[in-house]
Amino acid sequence: MDSVSTHTHESSRSERKVIAVVGGGLVGSLIACFLAKRGFDVAVYESREDIRQAKVVKGRSINLALSHRGRQALKHVGMEDKIVSKGIPMHARMIHNLNGKRSPYPMAKRDRFRNAQSHDRLQ
Ligand SMILES: Cc1cc2nc3c(=O)[nH]c(=O)nc-3n(C[C@H](O)[C@H](O)[C@H](O)COP(=O)(O)OP(=O)(O)OC[C@H]3O[C@@H](n4cnc5c(N)ncnc54)[C@H](O)[C@@H]3O)c2cc1C
Repeated sequence: MDSVSTHTHESSRSERKVIAVVGGGLVGSLIACFLAKRGFDVAVYESREDIRQAKVVKGRSINLALSHRGRQALKHVGMEDKIVSKGIPMHARMIHNLNGKRSPYPMAKRDRFRNAQSHDRLQ
């Protein structure tokens, strides 16, 4: 019985399957992190260039608004603090009237504000 168990264990190890995730956008990257945290081997296939090696031209790209829901997802894969610490909290949007008056509009309740992430700092 022991040898059967050992054999089964060895063959399952040598035949360990890799999960392929096609697309390394927000969803693909996140699911890859979730799968890796569960102990799976994951290979992400992305047709665009690697953002970690790409040259981001400052001022040519708007910031990414990270929502409270997005933060919760990052929290589950242990990356919330790393990402949020690089961002800028967006508590409200400011409306600039033609007469010069400024009116702030809160974007979310209390701690549920969005966080602005610069693309070059996400690398
Ligand atoms: C102008 C704009 C601004 C936005 N701003 C925000 C924002 O501030 N905050 C926010 O939360 N959301 C924002 N969004 C929405 C957000 O971008 C999408 O909800 C999100 O990207 C969807 O994630 P996804 O992984 O499904 O798709 P994507 O992020 O589009 O990822 C799909 C990936 O798959 C790759 N791919 C496709 N086909 C193949 C293939 N055959 N082989 C390999 N790779 C492939 C693509 O290159 C791409 O990288 C914005 C969207 C737009 C258009």
